[in-house]
Amino acid sequence: MSLMRSLLLAASQNRWLRERAPKHAFVRRAVSRFMPGEELDDMLRAARALAPDGIHAVFTRLGENVTDWAEADAVARHYLDAIDRVRGLSPSPEPSVKLTQLGLDLDSARCYPHVRALAERTHATGNYLWIDMEQTSYVDVTLDLVRRVRAEFPRVGVCLQAYLYRTADDLGSMIDIGAGVRLVKGAYNEPRTVAFPKKSDVDANYRSLAETMIGDRARAAGVRAVLGTHDVAIIDAMRQHARARNLPATAFEVHMLYGIQREAQLRLAREGVPVRVLVAYGVYWFAWYMRRLAERPANVWFVLRSLRETGG
Ligand SMILES: Cc1cc2nc3c(=O)[nH]c(=O)nc-3n(C[C@H](O)[C@H](O)[C@H](O)COP(=O)(O)OP(=O)(O)OC[C@H]3O[C@@H](n4cnc5c(N)ncnc54)[C@H](O)[C@@H]3O)c2cc1C
Repeated sequence: MSLMRSLLLAASQNRWLRERAPKHAFVRRAVSRFMPGEELDDMLRAARALAPDGIHAVFTRLGENVTDWAEADAVARHYLDAIDRVRGLSPSPEPSVKLTQLGLDLDSARCYPHVRALAERTHATGNYLWIDMEQTSYVDVTLDLVRRVRAEFPRVGVCLQAYLYRTADDLGSMIDIGAGVRLVKGAYNEPRTVAFPKKSDVDANYRSLAETMIGDRARAAGVRAVLGTHDVAIIDAMRQHARARNLPATAFEVHMLYGIQREAQLRLAREGVPVRVLVAYGVYWFAWYMRRLAERPANVWFVLRSLRETGG
């Protein structure tokens, strides 16, 4: 892992920075490249603007590792209300939530009713619930909660991370239950004991897992296969792989983040690939934004340039 990436990921966990950085106007301006605003209405506006190009939305209210139940309960209420409000768009933007936002750090047993309530509401409204994947220590409990909630409400999918050695097994277990899977490379700082340290190994694992996601067993199980990546080379290779197997362009979806690889989003949508863009909003964007910088350290230069241009 590059030194810059390690530093940015360490910064994402730093409380002192988290409290101070968002107060600076130049940081807020830099964040706006990845985030249309802090309110649900900002997300809705962005989702409406994407729709004419055939691109749909996934939405997430930023925040993680909440430390009191009042906050976790408020987050759950927010999502319940948001799931109702997004019904105005067709197809509706799909919620994507972090379990530590719903109280997982406090008590997984008490977090579950929140997950269930969101799954029930997405089910009732014909929507679909995505569960994000956080640090490796949360993988087992996240997959357990997904299994449990899917037994009642099948319209639930989970994110899996290609940088973890364990993910091939986890993918197998999600295929067994026909769960939707959004495959990503992985955004956290993980030790080499659990995650591939070399990017080329992560990419190779990503390809192999993606092939499994559109393999016969996964398709027979009705897995909703989503490639959550901006890696155009991998996406194009997967499209060729699908064509060689006579699979339609809809065999998998591509989900990207708002503000990243816009040209590729448009091209894929034009060529018949189902594309969604994850639109984030909310006030707790610092850790999330640091992870976006870490993914492409060149992004840091945009921030520094905006600082120089504005004297901010
Ligand atoms: C829809 C979605 C949901 C996600 N959910 C999770 C989750 O639940 N858990 C989790 O751990 N991670 C999640 N991630 C983040 C993911 O793990 C990666 O950190 C992130 O997507 C960068 O990896 P990449 O696949 O785009 O490939 P990379 O090889 O990192 O990037 C490929 C190319 O995309 C462009 N690019 C990538 N990132 C950026 C950026 N930040 N800014 C500008 N250009 C960029 C660059 O041109 C780069 O060369 C999610 C990502 C997406 C798209």
